[in-house]
Amino acid sequence: MGVSPLVSGYDQLILDLDGCVWIGGEPTPRAVEAIAALRGAGKRIAFVTNNSRLSGEDYVRDLWGIGVQASAGDVVTVGGAMQHLLAETRRGRTAFVIGTEVMLRHVADAGLKVLNGTDLASRSEIVVLGGTDELTYDDLRIASLAVRRGADLLATSRDPTFPKPDGPWPGTGAILAAIEAASGRTGAIVGKPQPQLMLTALDRLGEGRTLVVGDRLDADIAAAAKAGLDAALVLTGTDPPTEAELGELGGQDGARPVAVAPNLGTLVLGEENGAGS
Ligand SMILES: [Mg+2]
Repeated sequence: MGVSPLVSGYDQLILDLDGCVWIGGEPTPRAVEAIAALRGAGKRIAFVTNNSRLSGEDYVRDLWGIGVQASAGDVVTVGGAMQHLLAETRRGRTAFVIGTEVMLRHVADAGLKVLNGTDLASRSEIVVLGGTDELTYDDLRIASLAVRRGADLLATSRDPTFPKPDGPWPGTGAILAAIEAASGRTGAIVGKPQPQLMLTALDRLGEGRTLVVGDRLDADIAAAAKAGLDAALVLTGTDPPTEAELGELGGQDGARPVAVAPNLGTLVLGEENGAGS
């Protein structure tokens, strides 16, 4: 099974998981075959996700579950990107973390001293915020005091909500807004649309011509542009972008997708009835 001329021009690909490789745990059309063909053509692959609740190992298990071979080094979660950033820039400093056990571990593994549960928590030098559905007033109080006292505030996302069957639920951006309102200071974002997730994936992949593939103009394509990388948009479950939306992105980030395809399978393998499928 060959790969398309577009894809064959790259040495390595960074693939968004949700909405690109799978939707709700179900692989998108021919995604598994596409990834196998990429590997067969000698392309290096990293998988990225803006979800900080699960570990890289959790995603490795899910990839094997749909028939894609992967190891922990192949998956970059936003928690992994946070760990990479913290290890390079804040090693040895103190942190208060709002997030899951997975995020606490990422911060500790980056070489920071986690002060959660101690009397010194509100004097932490860094406040790290990731996705969580366990949040107390004490968390907001400690984080806000620390940030007001000068701590750096780093969050995985500014998305105010995330979709659920009964409607949008409060997301990391809603918790971030509370801390910002109480502390009077603005946080920095580590996940998409900022480039750190792509930079961490590049750190894992090494040098080479790189294509990012994702399903969101304002997240994946924007993050790729900020990292200086080419990107392709897949329309799995979304409508094609309007010329205005593409133009707006070009205006913001000086880049637009090098390709737009119905899904990852078609981007990599070509049309379903084409030669080689
Ligand atoms: Mg996505």
